[in-house]
Amino acid sequence: MTHFKEEQTLVLIKGDGVQRGLVGEIIRRFERVSLKIKAMKMVWPSDEIVNRHYDPANTEWLEDVGNKALKGYEKKGIKVDKTPLEIGKHVQENLLSFLAAGPVVAIVLQGAHAAELVRKLVGSTDPLSAAPGTIRGDFALDSYYMSDADDRAIRNLIHASGNAEEAKREIEIWFDESELHKYTLPYDEVVYDKNWEKKQALLNE
Ligand code: GDP
Ligand code: MG
Repeated sequence: MTHFKEEQTLVLIKGDGVQRGLVGEIIRRFERVSLKIKAMKMVWPSDEIVNRHYDPANTEWLEDVGNKALKGYEKKGIKVDKTPLEIGKHVQENLLSFLAAGPVVAIVLQGAHAAELVRKLVGSTDPLSAAPGTIRGDFALDSYYMSDADDRAIRNLIHASGNAEEAKREIEIWFDESELHKYTLPYDEVVYDKNWEKKQALLNE
């Protein structure tokens, strides 16, 4: 079994994040919790790569997205005469145009609980309801209301893998194995070394 500290997750800083000059600010938030940047590059995504990432053939995911949207409509008291799959397909199409419209920054982050930790820092999908202190809550004002009314993808700055398993699939889409770098950070020891206390004691003997 790999150690907790080996968990990896994929982050994409979407076009709105890049073109609002938030790349540094966003990366800073991941670096300061002591996640390690394993890989990073700027990519102008092709339709092909977006379709591998947000797969239009993955009906389960499309239905999940559609159901989430339907719940939102229900809350607003809006009746929608579409199946979750139809809604999901439409969201996927809008995502495709959004992601293919400009360069994104793709990053692999590594560290304990990387996927869960990054999702926590990123905040919920809809920036309007994302908690203050999260990246979406602090730096974005878009909403399902506005993006649906304008029939476009919601501009929520970031994609982050939902869990470690999803991350594995997604990292393979965006990166070659050779682009994931092995290197040490000086603070790795105090974050992870289970013998850190003993080593400190020896220093002070
Ligand atoms: P995430 O993991 O928080 O990014 O959310 P999902 O994986 O559920 O959805 C992927 C992306 O699809 C989101 O980041 C949004 O850009 C977009 N999206 C999801 N649901 C909706 C929706 O109901 N309406 C709109 N306009 N966009 C959506
Ligand atoms: Mg997701």
